[in-house]
Amino acid sequence: MSTQYNNECIFCKIVSGAIPSKKIYEDEDVIAFHDINPSAKVHFLIVPKLHVESLASCEAEHQVLLGKLLLLAPKLAKEQGLAGFKTLINTGREGGQLVFHLHLHVLGGN
Ligand code: AMP
Ligand code: ZN
Repeated sequence: MSTQYNNECIFCKIVSGAIPSKKIYEDEDVIAFHDINPSAKVHFLIVPKLHVESLASCEAEHQVLLGKLLLLAPKLAKEQGLAGFKTLINTGREGGQLVFHLHLHVLGGN
């Protein structure tokens, strides 16, 4: 499911600026910020501004947006000083997803 804004969603609140974040990148479609509870020396999240619940909610219309998230990973990782990195997308409660607004984890530096 995708909507413009979900009042209950913490990442929508970060997108709107209602909740602060350690932002590292923003454009018209995407925002990226450091994870509040990092699992690596460098751990940030790349998040579409559009509220899409998970990878499992994505449709063909999200193809370009998904490509954009992935293409940003090496660019932002390099800016954060990472020579290499891991990427992760948790999908669904049983896939370890805690925040139901699509996001790509980028981890590195250990
Ligand atoms: P996931 O399990 O993939 O849904 O991961 C959600 C991630 O969001 C976790 O790594 C959390 O530490 C992170 N997170 C939750 N709230 C915030 C926040 N306000 N700012 C930054 N990261 C957050
Ligand atoms: Zn949201």
